[in-house]
Amino acid sequence: MSNRVVASAARANLAERPQADVLIIGGGINGVAAFRDLALQGVDVVLIEKNDFISGASAASSHMIHGGVRYLENGEFRLVHEAVRERNDLLSTAPHFVKPLQTTIPIHSAFSGLFSAPLRMLTHRSGKPKERGALLIKVGLILYDSFSRDGGKVPRHEFHGRQHSRRLLPDLHSGVKYTATYWDAAIRDPERLGQDLIRDGRQAGGSNARAVNYTSAVALSGTDVVLEDGPTGRRIPFTAKVVINAAGPWVDLVNGALGRSTRLMAGTKGSHIVLEHPELLAATGGRELFFENSDGRIVLIHPLKDRVLVGTSDIEHNIADPAECTEDEVDYFIQLIAQVLPEISVERSHIVYRFSGVRPLPDHDDLPPGFVSRDYRIDRDDLNPGGPRIITLVGGKWTTFRASAENLADYALAELGRKRKLSTRGLAIGGGKNYPVTDHARHAWIELHNERIGSHRAETLLDRYGTIAHDVIEAILADEADAPLHTLPEYSTAEVRFLAQTEDVLRLTDFVQRRTDLAFTGQISPEILSEVAQLLAPTLGWREGRAAVEVHRAMEQFAGLQGQESADSELAL
Ligand SMILES: Cc1cc2nc3c(=O)[nH]c(=O)nc-3n(C[C@H](O)[C@H](O)[C@H](O)COP(=O)(O)OP(=O)(O)OC[C@H]3O[C@@H](n4cnc5c(N)ncnc54)[C@H](O)[C@@H]3O)c2cc1C
Repeated sequence: MSNRVVASAARANLAERPQADVLIIGGGINGVAAFRDLALQGVDVVLIEKNDFISGASAASSHMIHGGVRYLENGEFRLVHEAVRERNDLLSTAPHFVKPLQTTIPIHSAFSGLFSAPLRMLTHRSGKPKERGALLIKVGLILYDSFSRDGGKVPRHEFHGRQHSRRLLPDLHSGVKYTATYWDAAIRDPERLGQDLIRDGRQAGGSNARAVNYTSAVALSGTDVVLEDGPTGRRIPFTAKVVINAAGPWVDLVNGALGRSTRLMAGTKGSHIVLEHPELLAATGGRELFFENSDGRIVLIHPLKDRVLVGTSDIEHNIADPAECTEDEVDYFIQLIAQVLPEISVERSHIVYRFSGVRPLPDHDDLPPGFVSRDYRIDRDDLNPGGPRIITLVGGKWTTFRASAENLADYALAELGRKRKLSTRGLAIGGGKNYPVTDHARHAWIELHNERIGSHRAETLLDRYGTIAHDVIEAILADEADAPLHTLPEYSTAEVRFLAQTEDVLRLTDFVQRRTDLAFTGQISPEILSEVAQLLAPTLGWREGRAAVEVHRAMEQFAGLQGQESADSELAL
């Protein structure tokens, strides 16, 4: 069954068939990965997401797929081991979006932190963050390399003195005495990888794998979970044998709606800015700069999509409030760039996008945010007698999504008395299937599609969608009215329609923020929004006037997310 049919049928038939073996609440990366895993096991599964898929914490990451070298000093060896393994796997299973990332740490001293770090590792909680000196970082990276030993896909770390470091990165602060360089990975399009997982799940499970966005779990009625359809407000009592609470930082609010009072989470807010700044981009030399800011926080300057991503903060946050990147955070980010690249002038006008989210961290009492475990755990509980078993994911990083989803699915399978049919380990994801990784294979793929659509377009679509590009090309060729967009000639009308029809687009912002990278790369203008909205309107059956409302809302939202100081952005649509 095509994704197009399954996507639209799922929303419609939630009310017609309000039951499934497993109900997953929360369509962030962990929820969609659990959805795919269970669908692959042949389980009747429903995934609901209150907003759009991959719009919560999963849309706020630093785009790193990493073992977490800094977690070593907190003694989180289990997590680092699993995360390095998952990073290595993702380089093979999602090569269209996950790419190796060279990461350089600028270091100002030789011995700093030697005493405080082991103490932190032993006590897991004491000690103010102190600057990490060269020796400490060297030990950490030797350990980190050792975690990569089996099946290592990335080169080992390198250490350089001042002169060599200046040759590699001429704009570095003159106080930098050493640099350490190691390899992790970056995810270019996290929101698109989320779409790939949903697509995989639907393809595996057909009408028994239903994923619906803009639908929330709002209450419990007897043993049913009451779902609310966002667009209509319609309420649906839903019966499931097992409920997976994958609501990330909102886990306690979901439990509260289901009549359970928990305090499992205490997430911290983290923000980023995206800069369009060719000089800064060039100064990174294509590497992520990962370093300690003057306050001891680990921060990063990450070249991505011809832009530079800078982050991040770590601020205690009340989950009932929206997360926004404040002007103080912007000041902090601009200042941190000056710590390592002092000659490069950065202004607010370079900012093309900013975003913020809440890390799903476990409740941590008075432990400072930097020391809180980034590992995850799974809690099991009876919702109420005779009702479904509830399984809650507490924590969980982007990097480890496959492993945490596998664990969630195993818990659910055990509750259902069923056996796992298939491991997701090593299974290619979406457009990563048969992705041409070598230059030769890439050239051959483009040549294959050249005659039908032209090599430039074939390559653009391959970069955007991986091998799902093949389906996009078929849709484009089947659409006689296809034409480049006037305001955005790199996209065409049939491509926009394909995404709208197959990927659950409900709002204009879904399209520009999460189906494409137009917002992230700062390509939003009233003209582009207007043209895209006019195209979406007939495809999505919008009533007269809805396109104008969508454009107005999107403009209001993006006004606050670019460089200028402005009134708080209106994030809730
Ligand atoms: C600033 C920052 C930087 C980070 N950087 C990295 C990084 O570089 N690498 C890395 O590996 N990890 C990183 N992380 C961590 C990672 O992003 C998260 O741990 C991960 O995305 C959590 O995914 P999730 O699916 O559990 O939660 P979420 O993505 O938050 O998904 C939960 C979903 O539940 C939905 N929901 C809530 N209530 C309801 C309801 N009642 N009904 C239905 N749905 C509901 C929400 O709308 C949300 O979409 C970072 C996180 C932050 C905040």
